[in-house]
Amino acid sequence: MKNSLITPELISELTSISGLQIMDSIVDRERFSRDFFDYSPVLKQKLEGCCADLVVRPFSVEAVVSVAGACKRHGVPLTLRGSGTGNYGQCVPLFAGIVMLMGSLRKIRSLSSDTGEVTVEAGCLLGDLERQLVANGRQLRLLPSTWRSASVGGFVAGGSGGIGSVRWGFLRDPGHLLGLEVVTMEERPQKLQLEADDAEALNHAYGTNGIITALTLATAPAIAWQEVAIDCDDWLQAVRLLQSCARSAVALHLCSLLEKTIVEHLPNWSGRFFGKHRLLLLVAPDGVTTIERLTKTAGATFKLLGAENTRNGNGIRELTWNHTTLHMRSVDPEWTYLQMLLPQPENETIDFLNSCWGEDLLWHLESVCQHGMQRLAALPVVRWRGLDSLEKLMKDCKDAGAVLFNPHVITVEDGGLGVIDVDQVKTKRRFDPNGLLNPGKLKGWL
Ligand SMILES: Cc1cc2nc3c(=O)[nH]c(=O)nc-3n(C[C@H](O)[C@H](O)[C@H](O)COP(=O)(O)OP(=O)(O)OC[C@H]3O[C@@H](n4cnc5c(N)ncnc54)[C@H](O)[C@@H]3O)c2cc1C
Repeated sequence: MKNSLITPELISELTSISGLQIMDSIVDRERFSRDFFDYSPVLKQKLEGCCADLVVRPFSVEAVVSVAGACKRHGVPLTLRGSGTGNYGQCVPLFAGIVMLMGSLRKIRSLSSDTGEVTVEAGCLLGDLERQLVANGRQLRLLPSTWRSASVGGFVAGGSGGIGSVRWGFLRDPGHLLGLEVVTMEERPQKLQLEADDAEALNHAYGTNGIITALTLATAPAIAWQEVAIDCDDWLQAVRLLQSCARSAVALHLCSLLEKTIVEHLPNWSGRFFGKHRLLLLVAPDGVTTIERLTKTAGATFKLLGAENTRNGNGIRELTWNHTTLHMRSVDPEWTYLQMLLPQPENETIDFLNSCWGEDLLWHLESVCQHGMQRLAALPVVRWRGLDSLEKLMKDCKDAGAVLFNPHVITVEDGGLGVIDVDQVKTKRRFDPNGLLNPGKLKGWL
């Protein structure tokens, strides 16, 4: 193996760990060294050649502790992987070393019938957790649109929000993550229980400052969400209606708006295309008549699709968040995307950007609760015309007052507000003093 950090001594140490599968074939190493970074042509070029030297799959927390200790002693980078559905190469091993698959730690340890707090192992799939919660009258507050395949640990370490954000904001808002069990990357790794305060530093840190083995999350009472589609002739009418739905006293789980060119390219199962812009909502049963009334007042067309059926993967939630980009890319892979919080009034920015970028920019809006206020996030689909063009577009968005969350960059900070989070770095110093966890992803450490 060229320049491999994997010595025979390390292999023999790993082989002696019970409950650990070791994979060294090139097929496995390549397969587990990538995620969905190819949504970004920029990241695709940068990350395509990255490959782990070895892949391991622990079946117990004890095995995780042993792997961490072995990597530390041998100075080998360790990159954690949940389901590998991230979009920014979060679980791509930039400096090779070992990729550790967390997906076999999937127990739901406890669910409090008093508070609804759930403690679950990091590799549990969000879909499996959601099913168990619903069976007990609860549900997750926030889910990515990849909720069927993504892991709980990967969502907290690499995601930000999604379905539920219209009501519950984002993962980093205080109140969602209540505690973590973490394994440190030390000579003698510790297994620590962190309270909410200390856990925050590992929230959205791309697994750079601790190995999450279990999480305690707040949940919400389960609601039998109703699917609603609303068609609008006019874009301004559609944005206003989106806002009045989001600001109403109706419980919503999703409140999305897709420009008509996007609606036209959605999969067949999404319903007929009537040449109009479309709102997609998940509405509490007692809110349906109110949304219908608001739609009528706006002069739009209301359609109640019925109770959400989450079994088949063809519900409206699978048309929103980054699944919108997925569907557009499956028609034409030259589409990429951006993520931003729009300044108010939103339509001035949208009009301005439309005037510069025309059909190269198609609008997809999501109502979100930002610091307690209803705002519009945009995940526009963008025609790839090269790096210079993308940079010019991002500059235009920022100049227009949008807060951009750049999905074409590698580090935690560049994909966020560009600011170094001192607590994340301090925690890395404490739990990963040699900087071996997912190296290259935390700018503050570099
Ligand atoms: C079509 C599509 C739609 C998407 N929609 C959304 C969306 O709506 N909202 C959203 O937030 N994201 C979205 N994503 C991104 C991604 O799917 C989610 O963030 C998902 O929750 C990641 O989970 P995962 O298990 O795949 O994590 P991975 O991709 O495996 O890992 C993500 C990060 O977490 C780290 N990590 C994984 N496990 C651990 C652990 N146990 N301890 C510490 N660190 C760990 C990894 O090292 C990596 O840095 C979407 C992606 C796609 C392709």
